[in-house]
Amino acid sequence: MAISLPTRQLFIDGEWREPVNKNRIPIINPATEEIIGDIPAATAEDVNIAVEAARKAFFRNGGKEWASATGAHRAKYLRAIAAKITEKKTELAKLEAIDSGKPLEEAAWDIDDVAGCFDYYADLAEALDSKQKTPVSLPMETFKCHILREPIGVVGLITPWNYPLLMATWKVAPALAAGCTAILKPSELASVTCLELGEVCREVGLPPGVLNILTGWGPDAGAPLASHPHVDKIAFTGSNATGSKIMSAAAQVVKPVTLELGGKSPIVVFEDVDLDKAAEWTLFGCFWTNGQICSATSRLIVHESISKAFLDKLVKWCENIKISEPLEEGCRLGPVVSRGQYEKVMKFISTAKEEGATIVSGGARPQHLKRGYFIKPTIISDVKTSMQIWREEVFGPVLCVKTFSTEEEAIELANDTQYGLGSAVLSQDLERCERMTKAFQSGIVWVNCSQPCFSQAPWGGKKRSGFGRELGEWGLDNYLNVKQVTQYVSNDEW
Ligand code: NAD
Repeated sequence: MAISLPTRQLFIDGEWREPVNKNRIPIINPATEEIIGDIPAATAEDVNIAVEAARKAFFRNGGKEWASATGAHRAKYLRAIAAKITEKKTELAKLEAIDSGKPLEEAAWDIDDVAGCFDYYADLAEALDSKQKTPVSLPMETFKCHILREPIGVVGLITPWNYPLLMATWKVAPALAAGCTAILKPSELASVTCLELGEVCREVGLPPGVLNILTGWGPDAGAPLASHPHVDKIAFTGSNATGSKIMSAAAQVVKPVTLELGGKSPIVVFEDVDLDKAAEWTLFGCFWTNGQICSATSRLIVHESISKAFLDKLVKWCENIKISEPLEEGCRLGPVVSRGQYEKVMKFISTAKEEGATIVSGGARPQHLKRGYFIKPTIISDVKTSMQIWREEVFGPVLCVKTFSTEEEAIELANDTQYGLGSAVLSQDLERCERMTKAFQSGIVWVNCSQPCFSQAPWGGKKRSGFGRELGEWGLDNYLNVKQVTQYVSNDEW
């Protein structure tokens, strides 16, 4: 299936603009290791230009064009973006699959979710109009108080490569719905569809400067955005190491941040499950998007009485899964995103072996694929809680397994992590599931499933997985300033 990659520039103030230094970053197809195009490499000078464009757009016409227009006005643009994305779904899904390595079918689900998310935040933008001037009851009649919800201002949105356009949308859609203007900085490893979002904005006539898209390296383009004094908020999704740098940069100028960081989520499988269904959720929960999911349930905690039968099932599936180039019919697992990620994952596997764990499936590249960053789905048992494979996020197709005998032990193992993004429990006993739900130290719990995600429901973690919530009404609140207005209403003259 031939597809040519569009050559794009930076999207600033409604136009395509070459980066000031004219540099570009090669795009490498992770399935073939070939250079298939390039993206512009923004630097601090481009960030300054984009921030200026976003500020002008925020204040243009006294804000009437965007920031203080009605939510209904902004919703029209969000719906037009959603419709255009749906129209371009096939093309966008192919670009996403080629650029990130995810199977075409999964990329197509992502594009549907992108359109759905823009539509959802169009609804919330409209609803915002009726939530203005919300009264607050006070204990004194001489004062009246109400609340205004106003956009925070110019926001910087820094995103990762695992769901390139979807992660960007989780930020862009609510930010624009709230009336903010934005600068999006996608990952240098997969920016192609985010640049296409610029083209979509141009085609639907989004006012210039409302959304600006700067591709580039993290330290060159992301860091100056995070520390820019005229950027009023940073929303970040990515690694803990970068999240920590962003928080420090934001602290220098005291600006709010939301951080969606890494995870090492558990899936607890009790002895009363249907083994086939439980196997499906376990595999989906860990190997979807090649395990490159922040919330991947990559620590399997299975009851000792079923562990052998369960592992046998998982291994059988792993041995029969179709691993291929992402555009090939029936592909279930593509390559990981880059050489760096391939080497990182393989190092995790070799360290696990050195530390005494057993590779029960995978652990190597598939023999039928001579090029590309492919890794077989890997299952590791005989894991100790002190091992790196149990403690650190792999961000690749690797599931590690421990057994338990009592519910208390399962809870202890599940929470034995610095992270707290997701947790899953599989059991027919719903009372037990409820006890587990309360005991899990995470922002998200899945009962008898793993990974489903909806625009309506809050997403985010606790512990070192970050703070703040995306999606749902909470996602919109991230971009709103709540203004208290209190009026003195005594009849006394003054
Ligand atoms: P990363 O931290 O390497 O990069 C994320 C973004 O930050 C990229 O756009 C990058 O260019 C930019 N960046 C890098 N250095 C920067 C700096 N000094 N200043 C500002 N920006 C900088 O992460 P990644 O490898 O792209 O993504 C994988 C990580 O993302 C994993 O840890 C994963 O768990 C996490 N993630 C979390 C969620 C969530 O919802 N919690 C979702 C997806 C991914």
